[in-house]
Amino acid sequence: MTAPEFLAGNLGLDLCNTVAGRFDPAPRDRLAAPAGFQAWAAARGLPAGDRPDEDGLAAIRRLRDALHRLGDARAGDAPLPADAVAVLAAAWTEAQAAKRVVLEGGRVTVIDETRADWRRLYHRIVEDAVRLFGGDGLDRLKLCAGENCGWLFLDHSKNRSRRWCTMADCGTLTKVRRFRARQATGRP
Ligand SMILES: [Zn+2]
Repeated sequence: MTAPEFLAGNLGLDLCNTVAGRFDPAPRDRLAAPAGFQAWAAARGLPAGDRPDEDGLAAIRRLRDALHRLGDARAGDAPLPADAVAVLAAAWTEAQAAKRVVLEGGRVTVIDETRADWRRLYHRIVEDAVRLFGGDGLDRLKLCAGENCGWLFLDHSKNRSRRWCTMADCGTLTKVRRFRARQATGRP
């Protein structure tokens, strides 16, 4: 079973969701330290052989903030912010520069020659995000309706009625809050 933080359906969105309670006064950040990225990758079953240095982590977090701004804008039917696109574009150029086309096992294959595991994974996230924001599935992108949650996901439900990152977390919590608010005001 997929862990709750990997429910977005896209590596770029999963990266965004490494912040919990994004709109809370004190958000909880899984990537507060370099080891956090390694642990996040391992939990997702991705290659996590080494961890980024501080500069690498800063780049990952910069990308994450840009992707969240893109996702937030798209989920709210607003134009994609150009400066966030520029961050993604620069990361994509870097990722492509590391690629080589080689002959392997009788086929032509694209390989990433980057040594560091974390940076190869970073490149994969960038490519997944470019696919998402340039693809047809973008109208399925949603921001969780949970108060302060800030998680992004792709709604693959048939009638596109999904509202929460998980019913267990935000869905139930919001319903309990509404119930309590109704009780407090005496409204039915
Ligand atoms: Zn949520």
